[in-house]
Formats: sequence, structure tokens, C-alpha cells
Amino acid sequence: MLILGGTSEARALAAALVADGVPVTSSLAGRVAAPRLPEGGVRIGGFGGPDGLASWLAEHDVAAVVDATHPFAERISASAAAGCATAGVPLLRLERPGWEPGPGDDWRWVDSLDEAAALVPELGTRVFLTSGRQGLSAFAGVTDVFFLARCVDPPEPPLPPRIEVLLSRGPYRAEDEAALMREHRIDVLVTKDSGGTHTEGKLTAARELGIPVVMVRRPPHPDVEVVTDVDGARAWLARHRGLHHHTTGA
Ligand code: NAP
Repeated sequence: MLILGGTSEARALAAALVADGVPVTSSLAGRVAAPRLPEGGVRIGGFGGPDGLASWLAEHDVAAVVDATHPFAERISASAAAGCATAGVPLLRLERPGWEPGPGDDWRWVDSLDEAAALVPELGTRVFLTSGRQGLSAFAGVTDVFFLARCVDPPEPPLPPRIEVLLSRGPYRAEDEAALMREHRIDVLVTKDSGGTHTEGKLTAARELGIPVVMVRRPPHPDVEVVTDVDGARAWLARHRGLHHHTTGA
């Protein structure tokens, strides 16, 4: 079994499979300097596109793949769909549900970080930006707004001129998020629709403080069978284990 990882769900699935006695390898991109490592086997680094992934699957005799990467990791999911099709290996997508607004929320949906950057100056002057290190460059041209940006590793230029960077890793509690937003007099929150409970505290805080949220919609995903939790993935894997007919003779 190969898990394409980099998320808490991917780590939870790896731990469950190790407990089930299923041989499993997790794959990480290598973006984070000191990643939280999943249980079981781990490999780190890109495969070299869909063809590289297809070769890796054949060489390592992989019976099934679970793409448990982040909802905004578009390229690896596209690569998984194409590479698994080439290699004839079944593929499942494990994706946590997106967030949904509730009463009292003021959310503005946009399709991209560029759209978010265009919208923020209309909404406020002090923005809490939680789109991740790689997303900051989209805001580099927004010069008259202060950004409080939070990410795991230090970001690289281009960055907006008025920025303070907070290095940290979730999960975060709603009350701490509210205190942080108050302390920095934040009046707009920008986030991707990552979903999940680890980082939803900022949404509760924004609601309580009456702050508008610019929510970046998830990118479209390849047409692959989807489950939303670890148990769904375990059930799917139990069906596919051993069903794969090896064609490489390896
Ligand atoms: P991406 O743009 O979809 O991927 C870019 C390239 O990185 C891929 O083409 C692939 O290289 C390699 N790659 C990505 N994920 C990989 C994995 N799990 N194992 C091996 N290679 C991988 O991805 P990204 O948005 O930079 O995200 C990178 C990783 O961080 C993912 O594992 C994702 O789950 C995690 N993550 C992303 C976000 C986010 O907001 N994007 C948030 C939290 C965690 P090759 O083409 O050479 O195979």
C-alpha cells in the first residue's frame, strides 16, 4: 500500500494500517524541513511526474494507492490519477470535507489566492493570512495592507512589504486564535478551504469577532473514488488488497 501523505488524515491512516498489520509506505513531498513522520515506511521527495510515479509503483509492487494529500495539492493528485492509470494500480482519494459557513459567519468565496489578494483591500487593513508559505507571493503586490502571516517554515520572497511572519504548526484553539487576532487588531481573515478540525478555530474566532473571511475554494480534483475518513479508506483497502495482478514479474 502506498499513501500519498502530508496531512493528518494520511498519518492516521498509516497508523491504522500498521496496527492492522498491513505493509504500508507513506510518501511525503519534502516541503517541510522537519515533517511529522507517519508510522510505517516513509519515502520523501517527488516521483518525477506521473510516469515516475507509475515506474515507482511497478518497481515496488504496489497493490493500491491512497491519495491522502492536501485538498490544495493539485499536481500530486493529478499525477496520482495518471500514474495509477498507467500502472494499472487502483487509486482512492481520501479527502476531508470542506468547511461550511454557519449563522453569524461572513464568508466571501473566491477561486484563487490572486482573487483573494484583489479583494482584501476592499475589506480591511489588517489581514490574518493563513494560506501557507507558498501562498504568500500572491499578496506581494498588496502594499497598503498589513499582513500577519502564519506558516510552518520561513517564507521566501516575493512577500508583501508590510508583513509579520508567525512560525508555528497547528492544531489551534478558537480562544487562542481570537486572542491572537485581537492582539494584532485583525479585521480580515484569509484562508484556503482546507477543512478539518485542526485549523478551524480561526473560523470560530472570526465569527465571534465579527471579522469577514475570504475563503479560497478548493481546486477541482480528478475523477477518482473518494472517501472522507480513515475507516472508509481502510474498508476500500481491505477490498483491494491482493486483488492486484502483478505484471512486472518483480
Ligand atoms: P503539489 O503542488 O500538488 O505537488 C508538487 C510536486 O511535489 C508534485 O508534482 C510531486 O512531485 C511532489 N509531491 C507533492 N506531494 C507529494 C507527496 N505526498 N509525495 C511525493 N511527492 C509529492 O503539492 P504541494 O501543494 O506543494 O504540497 C506538497 C505536500 O504538502 C503534499 O504532500 C501535501 O499533502 C502537503 N500539504 C500541502 C498543503 C497545501 O496547501 N498545498 C497544505 C498542507 C500540506 P513529482 O511530480 O516529482 O512527483
